[in-house]
Amino acid sequence: MSGKLPIPKRREAALNASSSSNSSLSSADGMSADLASLFECPVCFDYVLPPILQCQSGHLVCSNCRSKLTCCPTCRGSLGNIRNLAMEKVASNVKFPCKHSSYGCNASLIYTDKTEHEDACEFRPYLCPCPGASCKWQGALELVMPHLMMSHKSITTLQGEDIVFLATDINLPGAVDWVMMQSCFNQHFMLVLEKQEKFDGHQQFFAIVQLIGSRKEAENYAYRLELNGHRRRLTWEAMPRSIHEGVASAILNSDCLVFDTSIAQLFADNGNLGINVTISCV
Ligand SMILES: [Zn+2]
Ligand SMILES: [Zn+2]
Ligand SMILES: [Zn+2]
Ligand SMILES: [Zn+2]
Repeated sequence: MSGKLPIPKRREAALNASSSSNSSLSSADGMSADLASLFECPVCFDYVLPPILQCQSGHLVCSNCRSKLTCCPTCRGSLGNIRNLAMEKVASNVKFPCKHSSYGCNASLIYTDKTEHEDACEFRPYLCPCPGASCKWQGALELVMPHLMMSHKSITTLQGEDIVFLATDINLPGAVDWVMMQSCFNQHFMLVLEKQEKFDGHQQFFAIVQLIGSRKEAENYAYRLELNGHRRRLTWEAMPRSIHEGVASAILNSDCLVFDTSIAQLFADNGNLGINVTISCV
């Protein structure tokens, strides 16, 4: 993993390419890049993608900016509701650069594939892995651990591949998160237990492990979560998630250890729940 921070911006890169005497761009690529620039929103410089609406004089603005504007940013005229079908047709035949191109992604995509690629793009910055949407931090992978140590000091870290994640006061009402870090195999894993109400009045617990690392690195590990009670055992084994994907979608799809409050009571001791966590290399 390189410690380098991405520097060049898309617009500067485009300038360099056109001013260099031996441009390696094929004419078709150059054409597509020129066409893509016609779709730049004058406000945010993101692309204006279908459905494309124009002002009365024909100026374009992206749908995101449009929703915040009362008049055309170019001519101050009325925004109206005029669809530009010709530009929409052109848009279907243009390849747009990935929005993470300034972080090193070279992919160009037709607009219908753009969002899906960008969500999964390996150059997308990492978001803070703490559950809940309260922290807005994002940055490079190598900056995630320093961020956690600086801004989330209260998170406990345990060393070793086999530990007990103790969640206290599991009977607290409402949505609650418990978070802990586990360090082993020279990696850091984040253990998350969430109590949520997916259906009315039906509280469930979701437990999952994510690696502070890329998706590729996560493939090298497996984790096991185990609740142990009086002659009872509940086990879940899976590959850890990468923090690049995050755990929200896994929790939404119940792709984790899921149990309800009555099961939690079977294994809890005085309102505290111990979850055995074992990480292994595969
Ligand atoms: Zn815009
Ligand atoms: Zn206008
Ligand atoms: Zn990309
Ligand atoms: Zn954070």
